Amino acid sequence: MSNPRRKKVSRDQLKPSECLCDYCTGKCCRYFSLPIDNPTDWDDFDAIRWYLAHERTMVYVDKGQWYLLVMSRCKHLTGDYRCGIYLNRPKICREYTTVDCEYDGQWIFERLFESPEQIWEYAEALLPPRRRLAAKAASELLPIVNS
Ligand code: SF4
Ligand code: SF4
Repeated sequence: MSNPRRKKVSRDQLKPSECLCDYCTGKCCRYFSLPIDNPTDWDDFDAIRWYLAHERTMVYVDKGQWYLLVMSRCKHLTGDYRCGIYLNRPKICREYTTVDCEYDGQWIFERLFESPEQIWEYAEALLPPRRRLAAKAASELLPIVNS
């Protein structure tokens, strides 16, 4: 499908009477992201590994906070990149502005994980080996088991 929008302009080319959204294909309506607990142990990283086992998910870190990002187009985004429920759109959409939006964003994050393998490799570099932890836990249990 051809882009029904006008040729993309930079923010500083925008005339006072124009709206940036008229040059955009609805980038902010094609995903959502939610803050998640910052991972500290193997269980936390295992949960993130599970998130990333799903298609079209990413996990990123911004200003020290971890987020789950799901690349999923809103069902109300129309073919000409407008909101199909504009007058009744959710509060989060009504409060969103073009000021800091991703119109010209480069999607550069402090950290970005796109696959289970990536997050696991990161966890392995950060945490004590799982096997050693498991052995330690087992040895601590032994006196109880043997008593
Ligand atoms: S708010 Fe920004 S990202 Fe969303 S449609 Fe408008 S210009 Fe595009
Ligand atoms: S409800 Fe409208 S403004 Fe909100 S994400 Fe969907 S298309 Fe975009």
